[in-house]
Amino acid sequence: MRILVTGGAGFIGSHLCERLLTEGHSVIAMDNLITGSVDNIAHLSGRDDFLFIQHNVANYIYFPKVVHAVLHLASPASPSQTSPTGYLQLPIQTLKAGALGTLNALGVAKTHGARFMLASTSEVYGDPLEHPQEESYWGHVDPVGPRSVYDEAKRFAEAMTMAYHRTHGVDTRIARIFNTYGPRMALDDGRVVPNFIGQALRGEPLTVYGNGAQTRSFCYVDDLIEGLYRLLSADEHMPVNLGNPQEITMREFAAVINDLSGNSAGTCLDGDRTSGDPERRQPDIERAKRLLEWEPRVSLTDGLELTLTYFRERLAMAA
Ligand code: NAD
Ligand code: UDP
Repeated sequence: MRILVTGGAGFIGSHLCERLLTEGHSVIAMDNLITGSVDNIAHLSGRDDFLFIQHNVANYIYFPKVVHAVLHLASPASPSQTSPTGYLQLPIQTLKAGALGTLNALGVAKTHGARFMLASTSEVYGDPLEHPQEESYWGHVDPVGPRSVYDEAKRFAEAMTMAYHRTHGVDTRIARIFNTYGPRMALDDGRVVPNFIGQALRGEPLTVYGNGAQTRSFCYVDDLIEGLYRLLSADEHMPVNLGNPQEITMREFAAVINDLSGNSAGTCLDGDRTSGDPERRQPDIERAKRLLEWEPRVSLTDGLELTLTYFRERLAMAA
């Protein structure tokens, strides 16, 4: 297949491009580099089966060759209050990527009769009142809170995807991705994994926001990519959660990273959490297990070791 990957120069997008190429597909990565980097796909450039197009998907997408699938990942993804690439600093761009970008990406899929997959998010559940989160849960989102620029854009994107499926018969998929980490996350994007690892490798205390009792469940990127690839091949149009159900508090998570990296600087309880920062998050992955025969395989410590190695190399190169 010829596959268009929007957000292809980002963290997850670049891994997905690589996997699609390995499976023998040809790939067009489309990205405006607002939070991604050509460094993530530099090793793919020059291949006959890979093309990079710098383009903002909020603007009309013109691609003359036939494409057989469109995988729509383009969107800022970090909720950081301070990073310039966090969606709180890019509110309009984030809403446009989720709304206009999804509309344009669906338009390409409709025109070409292509399969479509949306990278949605656990944030559609907001600060959830049900735990763990099943796909049937409608969520708890403040439509005018700061995080709404991301959450509501993704909820709109899901609604638009289902409308194109129901109205135009587009062969769509919706992946609800839970916290995923690994090599090629941007060191400065402000999410907890690059923040903690960067601080640990610099020998600084890890900044745990709030009291650190809030939880997340972290999935290593290789596991996620396997899930996305299986979903692309499956005949399922309703949303499917993809993530690792192993839940951990941010205080415990900081301790694991300090331990693995040998950082003795400890942690500091630092500042406010963003308004709407979910208290608990854990995917229910029974659907993915049943439909895709998929579940994560990489343990938290193995995944973090691989990620630490990557960030050590990045920091050494920058020094
Ligand atoms: P990322 O920031 O590394 O990747 C996003 C990519 O999209 C970047 O390369 C960015 O430049 C590009 N982009 C943003 N707006 C664009 C636009 N208007 N036009 C073209 N390109 C644009 O983040 P990521 O973690 O790789 O996230 C990828 C996707 O997965 C996003 O849609 C995100 O919402 C979703 N997701 C990620 C996670 C996670 O934990 N990593 C969790 C849930 C959902
Ligand atoms: N967090 C933290 N310290 C940091 C960055 C994040 O304690 O330096 C916390 C944050 O408050 C949240 C969790 O880690 O509860 C995960 O945050 P992240 O930014 O990775 O993304 P989210 O899961 O909220 O989308």
